[in-house]
Amino acid sequence: MERTLSIVKPDGVERGLAGEVIKRFEQAKIRIVAMKMVRLSLDQARKFYAVHRERPFFDSLTRFMSSGPVVVMVLEGENVIHKNRELMGATNYKDALPGTIRHDFARDIEKNIVHGSDGPDTAAAEIAFFFNVLEICSEA
Ligand code: UDP
Ligand code: MG
Repeated sequence: MERTLSIVKPDGVERGLAGEVIKRFEQAKIRIVAMKMVRLSLDQARKFYAVHRERPFFDSLTRFMSSGPVVVMVLEGENVIHKNRELMGATNYKDALPGTIRHDFARDIEKNIVHGSDGPDTAAAEIAFFFNVLEICSEA
């Protein structure tokens, strides 16, 4: 049993795609065990993306991620980290397969609708960044 963090980024919320992302999780039989809307401060966005602090896109990315509300979710299930990454598609929408969220909706490498944890360690840290145990409706 795994958990992962999903974020509908500010562009996804702004464009009215939060419901579309949730629908795709539900259709894939992925269990959503926590969900809320939050607005990150710039400082919080810089902490969340600290692994990327040396990258050229860091300042722009963190400004974008703090530019409006996001919908954060905890997903739970077998192999859910990988399953979510498959539903998301490649970071660059131009490389994403048809039928993935990023292929179908993103038109910008930065504003690419969704975030998903990339492994068990980052998933645990990212979930704890947004949720405490009482906020997660786990069956596990
Ligand atoms: N990003 C960007 N330019 C790049 C690479 C990434 O703006 O060349 C942004 C994009 O929003 C991406 C986020 O930084 O989703 C985190 O990058 P990562 O490589 O972790 O991609 P992800 O895990 O989101 O697919
Ligand atoms: Mg990543």
